[in-house]
Amino acid sequence: MVDNDIGGVWRTVGGRRIFIKNGQDLSTAMRESGKFNEIIKANNQKYDEIRKKKEKEVDEIVKPIKLSEKEHLACNEVLEEFKKNNNENLSIIDINIFERKGDISTSNKHSSVGYSKEQEEIIKNASERSLIAIHNHPGNGTFSLQDIYTCIEDTKIGGIMVVTEDYIYSLKPDFSKSLLERDSKGYYSNFESKLGDANDRLLSKYPMYSNNQLYHMAFKEVFEEMGWEYGREERNKD
Ligand SMILES: [Zn+2]
Repeated sequence: MVDNDIGGVWRTVGGRRIFIKNGQDLSTAMRESGKFNEIIKANNQKYDEIRKKKEKEVDEIVKPIKLSEKEHLACNEVLEEFKKNNNENLSIIDINIFERKGDISTSNKHSSVGYSKEQEEIIKNASERSLIAIHNHPGNGTFSLQDIYTCIEDTKIGGIMVVTEDYIYSLKPDFSKSLLERDSKGYYSNFESKLGDANDRLLSKYPMYSNNQLYHMAFKEVFEEMGWEYGREERNKD
C-alpha cells in the first residue's frame, strides 16, 4: 500500500502509470512524471518542422533579401548576447561599413530596450540617418509598429534590423521616395490602415500562415509601394 502525502489519483496513460495531484491537469502531470519526455520532444520537433516548412513557403512568396556578411556578423553578436542573458539587446552599427559603434545595451523589459549612455553619446554626435539599430526578438517575429516609428522619429537612425533565431529582418527607409506622416491626432493612421488592408487581403488568400508570416508579407507589400527596402534573410548560423 502506497501512502501519498499529497492527494491525487494514479492513472494509466498510453501504457504508463502517472500520478495526478488534486487540482492538477493531465498535461502537467504527464510532463512532471518525466515518462513522456521523448514523446513531448518528438511533438515539439514535428511542430518546429511544420513551422520551418511554412517559413520556406513564405520565402517563395516574398523573395528574401541579401544582407552582407558584416550585417550578419553584427546581428549574430546581438543574438549571442540574448543567448547569454535572455533579454532584449540592442546594438548600433554604421550604415556604410556595418561596423558596431559602442557597446550593446540590454533590458529585461522584454518589449523594449533603450540606448546605453555610450550609445546615446554616439547617436548625439552622429550625422543624420547614419546608423542602423539592431535588436533581437525572442520569438520569430518581424518588426513591431513601435520599432518602425522609433526608426522614423530618431533622425540619426537610417535603418533597423531585428534578429531572431532563424531570420534577420531589415528595413532601410528611403525618405526621398516617401515619408511616413502623422495625422492631426499624432497617429500614423494612413500607414496603419494600408497595413491592415494588406493583412486582411493576405489572410483571406493565405489562411494557413501565422500572424507573423502574414505581417511580414504585408510589410513587404506596403514598403515596396513606398519604395523602401524591406525584407528578411535566413540568419547565418555558421
Ligand atoms: Zn522590436
